[in-house]
Amino acid sequence: MPCEVCGKNTSTRRVVIDGVEMSVCVSCAKFGKESAPGQVAGASARAMIQQIMAKPTRSQDIYSKITDELVSDYGQRVREARIAKHLEIKDVGKAINEKHTVLLKIEEGSMRPNDELVKKLERLLEIKLKTTETPIAPQRTFGAASGMTLGDFIKVKKKD
Ligand SMILES: [Zn+2]
Repeated sequence: MPCEVCGKNTSTRRVVIDGVEMSVCVSCAKFGKESAPGQVAGASARAMIQQIMAKPTRSQDIYSKITDELVSDYGQRVREARIAKHLEIKDVGKAINEKHTVLLKIEEGSMRPNDELVKKLERLLEIKLKTTETPIAPQRTFGAASGMTLGDFIKVKKKD
C-alpha cells in the first residue's frame, strides 16, 4: 500500500498527522502520532503535509527589486567620500540626522541604507550610490552640480 505522504509503495501504518488519520510509511510516521479512533483521512491532507515538509522556497524577488539599484561597494564609496571631505562619522550623522552607529554599519557594508538615507548621503557627500545613475558624471554636469570639477575631485582623492 503506498504511503499517503510520500507515495512510497511499502508497508504502511495508520498515524494521525495534523489531526488527520493517514496510512504512511515508517519514515513519514515520525511526522505524526499513532492513530486514534474517530478521525478520518482528508483528501487535502496529503497536499497539506507535503507543503509542510517542502523546503521553503520564498522568492527573493521583492527584496532584490527594492535594493538591487544600490551599488555593491556603497560602504566604500561613503567612507572614501567622507574622508575626502575630512568629515568624521559623527559629523555626517549630525548633518543628516542619523545615528553614527548606523552610518558605521553602512560604511562596513553590513547594513544597506534605505532610499531616504541614500539620497541624504548622496547629497551630502556628492556621490552616487545607485547603479541606475552614472557613478561619475561627465565633467560639465559634475562641476555644475557640485561646484567641483572632476579634476578637483581626483586631486582631493589623491591627497588622501
Ligand atoms: Zn512516506
